[in-house]
Formats: sequence, structure tokens, C-alpha cells
Amino acid sequence: GDLSTASPIGNGYAFAVTDCLFCKIAAKEIPAEIVLETGRALAFRDINPQAPTHVLVVPKVHYENAAALAAADDGLADDLLSACHIVAVQEGVSESGYRVVFNTGTGAGQTVFHVHAHVLGGRSLQWPPG
Ligand code: 5GP
Repeated sequence: GDLSTASPIGNGYAFAVTDCLFCKIAAKEIPAEIVLETGRALAFRDINPQAPTHVLVVPKVHYENAAALAAADDGLADDLLSACHIVAVQEGVSESGYRVVFNTGTGAGQTVFHVHAHVLGGRSLQWPPG
């Protein structure tokens, strides 16, 4: 995307990145079925669910992927993981088991370059994934 209007702070961006789908969802400019909002994170249902529970958890600020998020070193990755667990409890899958996935890079299937955790559950999950 075009980063020209974004304002970098460390490895992140204070404002929405132009043409970033998940920045727009985080800003409520594009609708999504939101299941959890915390101070720094938003969780919403995946538009193409791969399991009965399939929720995406994103930081409200823009990081390209999990590596950039981890490098931020400001506790945001902790917040994101905590939000994933809250979602799993809310969805009723924390006892039966759930999976948290960060596809990182095109080779791993990342298609949206605003970091997001997939929270998957509600069915038996196979290992290894495809
Ligand atoms: P990735 O392939 O990057 O790991 O995951 C991107 C996810 O975003 C996919 O599972 C895809 O179904 C989901 N997705 C793509 N566009 C939208 C959208 O407009 N709204 C929602 N809620 N999910 C989306």
C-alpha cells in the first residue's frame, strides 16, 4: 500500500495506512462483525471462516506482520495474545481447544499485510496444517 500519509512511530504507525483493509476495519470505515474491542486491539469474524470459530485479532495500529509486531517491544504483542484468549473463552472453545495462527509472509499464506492472529476452534483441528 501507499504509506505516504502514514506517520511512523518506531516500527508502527500512529495513523491508518492508506489502502490497508484492516486499518479501515479498525477505524470502523469498513464494517466487520466485531466480537471484542480492547484499548489497542480489535477482534472480528473472518469473512471466509475455516472453522465454526474463526476470528481475526488485530492491533489498531499498523504492523505488517508478526515479526514487526514483536520488534515493537511495547507490550502490544502481549495484548494481542491476551485478546486471542479472551475471544476463545467468549466463543466457548477454550476448553475444547483452539489454535492461534500468524501467517507470516506470502509463502505461509499471508494475504493481508496488517498483522492478524487467526483464532480457530469449534472443530477438531488437524496437524500439520496444509
Ligand atoms: P491471511 O491470509 O493474511 O493470513 O488472512 C487474511 C484473512 O482475512 C483471510 O482469512 C480472509 O478470509 C480474511 N479477510 C479478507 N478480507 C476480509 C474482509 O473484508 N473482512 C473480514 N472480516 N475478513 C477478511
